[in-house]
Amino acid sequence: MARDLASFLRRKARSTKSDPARCSSCNRVPLPGELVHELESRRVVCQLCLADLPEPHRVTISCERVHATDRPLTVARAA
Ligand SMILES: [Zn+2]
Repeated sequence: MARDLASFLRRKARSTKSDPARCSSCNRVPLPGELVHELESRRVVCQLCLADLPEPHRVTISCERVHATDRPLTVARAA
């Protein structure tokens, strides 16, 4: 059972489809709440890598905030 979980987690970690917002420069997965920017060259970079780019290469075509989950969070009334 534990071996199945370990192999599942390894597969998930290797899968690039599960992390579409991975930074193309530092290969880091941005944290929830962080902004990711799409450059004119269609590369997606994180806020830190965008700041390191020379001024002429900082032209972005979109900017998106990373969410914690794709599903809306449930807000429940306190008991
Ligand atoms: Zn980066």
